Amino acid sequence: MHEHDPVRSDSGGRRPSRPEDHAALSRVILHCASGGLPRTDFLRQISDALLDLSDCDAVEVRLSQGDLHYRWEAARRPDVATRFVLARWSCGLDGTVIPATQSDSDFERMCRRVACQDFDPSWPFFTRTGSFWTGDTWNRVSATAASGPEAAGAGWCVGGHYRSLAIVRFVVDARTVGLLLMKSEHAGAFTSEAVESYEGVAQTLGLAVADWFAQHALRERVKELTCLYGIAQVTEETSGTFDEQLQRIVALLPPAWQYPEIAAARIVLDGRNFDSHGFRPADPRQSAEIVVNGRVRGVVEVVYREDRPEFAAGAFLPEEEKLIDAVAREVSLVVERRQAQQERANLQQQLIHADRLATIGQLAAGVAHELNEPLGSILGFAQLALKCPGLPKAAAKDIERVVTASLYAREVIKKLMVFGRQVPARKVQLKLNQVVEESLYFLEARCAKAGTRVVRELAPELPEIHGDPAQLAQVLVNLVVNAVQAMPDGGTLTVRTRANGAHVALVVEDTGTGMDEEVLGKIFLPFFTTKDVTEGTGLGLPVVHGIVSAHGGSIDVQSRPGQGTRFEIRLPVAGTGVVQETDEHGGGV
Ligand code: ADP
Ligand code: MG
Repeated sequence: MHEHDPVRSDSGGRRPSRPEDHAALSRVILHCASGGLPRTDFLRQISDALLDLSDCDAVEVRLSQGDLHYRWEAARRPDVATRFVLARWSCGLDGTVIPATQSDSDFERMCRRVACQDFDPSWPFFTRTGSFWTGDTWNRVSATAASGPEAAGAGWCVGGHYRSLAIVRFVVDARTVGLLLMKSEHAGAFTSEAVESYEGVAQTLGLAVADWFAQHALRERVKELTCLYGIAQVTEETSGTFDEQLQRIVALLPPAWQYPEIAAARIVLDGRNFDSHGFRPADPRQSAEIVVNGRVRGVVEVVYREDRPEFAAGAFLPEEEKLIDAVAREVSLVVERRQAQQERANLQQQLIHADRLATIGQLAAGVAHELNEPLGSILGFAQLALKCPGLPKAAAKDIERVVTASLYAREVIKKLMVFGRQVPARKVQLKLNQVVEESLYFLEARCAKAGTRVVRELAPELPEIHGDPAQLAQVLVNLVVNAVQAMPDGGTLTVRTRANGAHVALVVEDTGTGMDEEVLGKIFLPFFTTKDVTEGTGLGLPVVHGIVSAHGGSIDVQSRPGQGTRFEIRLPVAGTGVVQETDEHGGGV
């Protein structure tokens, strides 16, 4: 072919590339493809093998896969380092992917002609199958060489560092997917036989790339499924805490990514981090939000702890985008399920608690009832005895003691009966704010004495409720007294009312000692107190509970040791039908 071409003569006694090497090369290429290597390693091995088994000084492989395009160059000279870059490619008219570098040089134009098969078969510097080659890139290659004067002016000078150049395309399924560029620093380094055998190599390369595409896709799919299967297994298990589950899930992520050796993952849930081994915030990074019941609760992230040149083309595969979304969805579902379980357990706990209080209430009320009558006799007869004329002074003093003790006992019994809801509420239509104002009036002196600042935030135009004003005043008094006692060194007491749908709420909040979980679990039990005998009887909150229950309301308590406590009493608005007079359990506590 083209023996007449003056720029093709061999020069400098360099050995032309030998065809037998190309057979070896094909073997190496096919071997690389079946190894399932990551893209960069695959391209590196192929171009290294081409460099080793040919007399070229540099080999460049351009490859496009989906929307991503890669260029890898291996060079013999150490100062021309091997590099991996994202090439700019664009789509040809026929849908073929072609390179379109920013520099619209003759060299790049020639690459495009090869990729798109845009050439005149009579041009001497093209082979029959459409590869370009020249033995002197510094010389202008001209179409006139074969096409006569009518094609005058159609000439190119590909130029560059390399004197000899061959550009061969390779195809998968009849579409150009890449180019193989063989380069030599010497003029006339190639023979037409050598170029023909490069075309053979390119054919093998096409087969190899097709194989590699398939293997690569399969491998990624297998990793993805392994990861999702692993997560499903973890979430199925009922043993272990939720934190342990998240920790195990996060450890499953890095192996599913393309470069597991530098991949690390983190799951952030409600501000808490669960990291895979060696995680640190880094770029490139990929993430997906954890959305539970429409609310963003956290994020799943995967990072590469090292930046690599090939990441310029996008570090993550499209499949990995989908995978991380799937993982985030899976985690969301686990959180949702856990939350539902937790809520069920809490509700059950509340019911047990309310049940227990109701039982204790009945028992206490029964005992109180039994004691109430004899106590009435004791008090009555003692008071009668006191009126006896001629009673010795000492005896009168003793009887007075009996009266005082009986009165105290009667108070206790009355409270127990309120707790057991044995004292009927005398309900009227009332304004909660009015009850609060009146009760606070009597409490203010006590608060001031204790150095407590009182803040009142009473919502105007609160709907009326149906209740016993005296009992509701008792609720506020008991809560306020507790709050003041919880702030021995002074603090702020906030009394708030507000409308809340079918309920009105009374909130009593303090900045006092707070309670731990253990105390919190017992506060509604009669006689439970953490105070001195002179300060508390442990009946304040049971009374509150009894009254609120009798009003069809509920109590919510939040407390933090060292920070304070907040009681919220919710009472049904009059006429809403929420009141359940016969509700044995009363409101939840
Ligand atoms: P008493 O006040 O007589 O102890 P209560 O039934 O009123 O009985 O309260 C029971 C216990 O609940 C108290 O002893 C205290 O430990 C705890 N408690 C109640 N209210 C508060 C509060 N506002 N701050 C801290 N602890 C509280
Ligand atoms: Mg109290």
